[in-house]
Amino acid sequence: MALKNGKIAALAGGVGAAKFLRGLALCVEQRRLDIVVNTADDDQFYGLHVCPDLDTIVYTLGGVANPRTGWGIAHDTFATLKALSPFFGRPWFALGDHDFATHLFRTSRLAAGLPLSEVSAEIARRFGVRARVMPMSEQPVRTFVTLRGRAAMPFQEYLVRNRARGRVERVEFRGLEKARPLPAAVAALKNAAAVIVAPSNPIVSVGPILGFKAIRAALAAARERAAAISPIIGGRPVKGPLDKMLRGLGHEVSVLGVARLYQKLVGVFVIDRADRRYAQAIADLGLKPVVTDTLMATPKRAARLAETVLRALNLAI
Ligand code: GDP
Repeated sequence: MALKNGKIAALAGGVGAAKFLRGLALCVEQRRLDIVVNTADDDQFYGLHVCPDLDTIVYTLGGVANPRTGWGIAHDTFATLKALSPFFGRPWFALGDHDFATHLFRTSRLAAGLPLSEVSAEIARRFGVRARVMPMSEQPVRTFVTLRGRAAMPFQEYLVRNRARGRVERVEFRGLEKARPLPAAVAALKNAAAVIVAPSNPIVSVGPILGFKAIRAALAAARERAAAISPIIGGRPVKGPLDKMLRGLGHEVSVLGVARLYQKLVGVFVIDRADRRYAQAIADLGLKPVVTDTLMATPKRAARLAETVLRALNLAI
């Protein structure tokens, strides 16, 4: 296979993607990774601009992520949050003291007029991350979720405040029409030797990124050197509300349901051994099924999964 620029591009959400990318970074040098990250679940808290997925990727690749949650910083303290509660009421979105520093820095740099891509690169450098970590867009896109009988609410309110309760009827990405994809993200997909769609939520993590026509087209054009990893194992998401979202939006809750969403975009679809009975159905969609262990319980297991994906894409490592 022609190496193109020898880099590997990835589309990423938060925790599922971060676990995979940490494994990938054990197989290939971080500087060979171009990571395009969802920013549609960004939000403002206490006047600060919080980018949960970008931070999860950076903290994980920087080796400081909280291993228990997968998000936030290990051993962080919560004095600031506690001090803020008499002013703002009981907090429902956990932000640690060290985490606050990231959001303060980001907010001040954005206020100074720097684009989010540049600020994200600065934050990645601060945490020693050598991979290129890019927001999908400089402009804001916000995911709203509508539950049965309720008004649309911002994604973090649905996920964190409401603990993903209720029946999802609609998911919308507000601002997507007016936003432009990051040119460097589109270029990364075009030039990469391989593209990997991380095991992230296909609706609310990868969905907004693929909402950009240019990104979708670049991935479709790279289909023969692109793979996606299923976030569903044994018919269920490892974590999070993906099953409710798939069901609510009329998709099958299985690896096949996810494969259908990526059918025109990737050539290889990686599923867990627990879902091996779907391999033929995935092949019938025109995707090459790869059956392996996809539960990334440890960085070593994530690395093994990454190695399998690279081999399936004919990339020698
Ligand atoms: P979020 O934005 O933090 O929710 O993160 P993502 O969208 O990147 O990841 C959420 C998805 O990752 C969920 O649908 C999980 O099922 C999936 N996930 C988490 N851990 C694993 C794992 O070890 N293996 C696989 N295959 N998927 C995982």
